[in-house]
Amino acid sequence: MAVKAVLFLNALIASIWCAPSRRCEPGEEILGWCKPPVEHKPKCSEVVLGSCDDMPYTHTVFPNLVGQRHREDVEASVEYLLLSVVRSLLNGECSPELRMLGCSVLAPRCQDGRPTRPCRHVCEAVRRRCEHGFDTIRMAWPYFLDCDRFFVSEEEGCYDPLEGLRGEETPEMLAASVAPQESATILQFVYHTHTQLLNTLKRTAAHCPDIARTYTIGRSSEGKDLTVIEFSSNPGQHDILEPEVKYVANMHGNEALGRELLIYLAQYLCSEYLLGNARVQTLVNSTRIHLLPSMNPDGYEIASAEAQQGGDIDYDEEGRYEGFMTGRGNGQNIDLNRNFPDLTSIAYSRRRHRYYRTDHIPIPDAYWFGKTVAPETYAVMKWIRSIPFVLSASLHGGDLLVSYPYDLSKHPQEENLMSPTPDEQVFKQLARVYADSHRTMTSHHTEPCGSDFTDRGGIINGAQWYSIRGGMADFNYLHTNCFELTVELGCDKFPPEEELYNDWQDNKEALLSFLEAVHRGIKGLVMDEEGRGIKGAVISVKGIRHDITTAENGDYWRLLTPGIHIVTASARGYVRSMKKVYLPARLQKAGRVDFTLKKAPLDLDEDDYVPAIPSTYERFDPYNQFARYNVRDVAESGIERQENPWWWSYFARSTGTAPNWLLKVD
Ligand SMILES: [Zn+2]
Repeated sequence: MAVKAVLFLNALIASIWCAPSRRCEPGEEILGWCKPPVEHKPKCSEVVLGSCDDMPYTHTVFPNLVGQRHREDVEASVEYLLLSVVRSLLNGECSPELRMLGCSVLAPRCQDGRPTRPCRHVCEAVRRRCEHGFDTIRMAWPYFLDCDRFFVSEEEGCYDPLEGLRGEETPEMLAASVAPQESATILQFVYHTHTQLLNTLKRTAAHCPDIARTYTIGRSSEGKDLTVIEFSSNPGQHDILEPEVKYVANMHGNEALGRELLIYLAQYLCSEYLLGNARVQTLVNSTRIHLLPSMNPDGYEIASAEAQQGGDIDYDEEGRYEGFMTGRGNGQNIDLNRNFPDLTSIAYSRRRHRYYRTDHIPIPDAYWFGKTVAPETYAVMKWIRSIPFVLSASLHGGDLLVSYPYDLSKHPQEENLMSPTPDEQVFKQLARVYADSHRTMTSHHTEPCGSDFTDRGGIINGAQWYSIRGGMADFNYLHTNCFELTVELGCDKFPPEEELYNDWQDNKEALLSFLEAVHRGIKGLVMDEEGRGIKGAVISVKGIRHDITTAENGDYWRLLTPGIHIVTASARGYVRSMKKVYLPARLQKAGRVDFTLKKAPLDLDEDDYVPAIPSTYERFDPYNQFARYNVRDVAESGIERQENPWWWSYFARSTGTAPNWLLKVD
């Protein structure tokens, strides 16, 4: 009787642990309609899965905890493929714990012919530590690592699948055992892949949560996040009168140094702030800093692959080494620094009009229907319209200098014609801030890349250097309040890794000084008589035909050179107000100049003309050409669709199935 009971129990176990076999449908054994052959009864067998050969046990059993019945089923599954590549997906993070945790589900320990279950507390600990890595690559926490579903408590007799790791320390584990907080601030002078870049920024922000956060402004044409790290005393919000400044790098995918410098700068700001560096604390507490290390992650990926193979080296007409060009454009092979609306031509064509302006020029409708607007360009345009940036630099490579607008020559046939903006003096001063604080940019001992710019102090007007149409710097200046310069960091666009440390040393002081330069000139509030800020009021400086407008709360910043300036504030419906300002040469912070405007009598005479922002200015993308980049497509079924992350096709191709459970739903 007892023997019979055991046999029946075995049959029952077989029916539970075996998915339907060819002979028996589920449940049929119990009904006695068929008998499973003896060899189908679960029994312990050796673990022969390559990715699971270092588990602290030697025997497993099928079906496993997710119901896969044979070793071959496991090997062909998306689950197993994920374990095999998780280390490289997450860039070594949480390796080998994640893989071993997965093995404990796909190849569970076998005892007496039955699988035993791994411990829930181990699973939960790994999940706490490693989930952010999955977030970074927009992958869901794998369903088969669900701690509640496949793992049990110690009371239920679990085992520790990571047991083998304790005590013995492999290099992998040592790397993994560095607390995420420590690794956030260790500057590694190496190139970062896209995933590593995102991870480092996120870890940095997590290490300095009081002064930093990351956010995404959009995606590249191949779906990579364009991620910004922000530093300020109040991350995520604009503080009244606090100027905003940005660095954008890697706009040309093959110009890689700036990308690394911004990663190091982010880590540096975070760690120095925590260490009590007074200069960094003052800077971060008084400034909102935004760093976009890669505007063109797709191009970088192509360039980086090329760099690893030695690269196809290009030479210019004079046979001068130019580095390789692959990856300069984005995923659609668009040169992003030619892709912005050409507002410079509009400014030139209007320069004889009486009230012509060189600020807040609307984007012409034709732009949206002309050339292809790259998603990266679109994302950056939206970004710079949404934040009251004051100052910016775009980091490039291939030469060693700082150039400033205009970048488009005022004469279409003259490629090297000095084409100054109304703010020539201000731009020159800002360019010098970077060049003079750079270790080698102004030194006559520095080997020039081509022409020698050291006689000019390492700075040049962009159009005089060489004329470009549709550049980002001109767009910043002519469309928004932001002054943007272009920094060429060196001859080598993709310097060897061993030079990165030196390059950081060359640029560190310049990067910091330029951020501090956002505090030059004047700033203040434009208010009505009740003390309420007036948004969109116009700040004009006599002799400079380029106005600045006030932000949401009536605050403004006007970069200016030292000296005497006549500053006027005006707004529709108010009487304008004028002030004479003296800015001493060595002023460390912006001079504060506030205006209170009186309500105007109804009829304004000619003298009170207020140069209104054109009404079309607010109409960004009026035809919704790029709805697909902002609003996620909503399928007819109502299910949200979004572009799949880069790893998607790899899994779909390798296993022939669409592993939907890998997609993170956000
Ligand atoms: Zn460039």
